[in-house]
Amino acid sequence: HTKNNGRNGFSVYRPDMNPMGKSQVQLKNELWRALYHNELRLFYQPKNDAGSGQIIGYEALVRWQHPVRGLLSPDKFLPVAEKSGMIIQVGEWVLNEACRQLAIWHAQGNTELSVSVNLSALQFEQEMLAQVVLNALTTNNVPPEKMILEITETTAMRSPKETIRILTILKEHGIQVSIDDFGTGYSSLLYLQSMPASELKIDRAFVREINNNHTDTRLLAMIIELAKNMNLNIVAEGVETEEQQRQLTELGCNILQGFYFSRPVPPEQLVLPEIMVKPPAQVKLDLVPDTG
Ligand code: C2E
Ligand code: MG
Ligand code: MG
Ligand code: MG
Repeated sequence: HTKNNGRNGFSVYRPDMNPMGKSQVQLKNELWRALYHNELRLFYQPKNDAGSGQIIGYEALVRWQHPVRGLLSPDKFLPVAEKSGMIIQVGEWVLNEACRQLAIWHAQGNTELSVSVNLSALQFEQEMLAQVVLNALTTNNVPPEKMILEITETTAMRSPKETIRILTILKEHGIQVSIDDFGTGYSSLLYLQSMPASELKIDRAFVREINNNHTDTRLLAMIIELAKNMNLNIVAEGVETEEQQRQLTELGCNILQGFYFSRPVPPEQLVLPEIMVKPPAQVKLDLVPDTG
């Protein structure tokens, strides 16, 4: 069997996969229940403009409020969701919920905010992906320009032609694309140039090394320089210290994200940006010259 088995839309079983163990099967069944009983949650982490510090959007990160095991992070259940193919349903829920939240922020006056949603490789094997994304946007009446889809460098490399085809459709509708965890995979910036992306997210591994490893920092500087020439927004993820914030800004990252600014939090705990809309000019009727 080749690694390309099951590239036909909704196929979920791959001969090259390890079969799921008993506990994984149980988790999968529980995940079905979780979808029905609305146990999934989206937490949000702000993305800050490096220059002004202004919040420009939020990344949605999925959690599972498990009735017995408590709040589960994605690494506890996304692998099973991927393995079982349920990531398709989970992903659709995430897209809809993120758009619903975006509509709320916009209705509150923060119409400049964007939302970033992570997509898994399996979602890209879904013929209908573009339609699923567009449905979520139109149902919630939010502008496609404010939706950023994050795909990892590794996902983008898996079936490059098909990925580019789907991303091109999405881009034609105004949706933005971000290459997540950049620097961890094996793609080249040259390949990246053929991707309809508008953003590059530098992996946390680089950010962590910025003060320790001179070679990594030089490499990072080069990546940023090239990405800038490609007109990409450059996001640094996993910024934890003021020092990292300063250095990454100096290196040319224009968007920063990380615990230094905020951990991912549920929407009710979010600090929303100050609304930048100017108050309407006061109409002073008594100053209207009397022409009578
Ligand atoms: P990611 O998209 O690269 O998200 C960044 C991860 O790093 C998040 O972990 C976030 O909580 C964490 N993080 C953010 N800032 C910092 C920091 O300053 N320091 C440290 N140490 N960590 C930081 P999380 O929420 O556990 O998500 C892990 C991964 O799970 C995500 O990585 C993403 O690949 C995946 N994921 C999360 N939500 C979804 C989803 O809705 N759909 C899909 N397909 N994948 C998701
Ligand atoms: Mg991400
Ligand atoms: Mg990332
Ligand atoms: Mg990551």
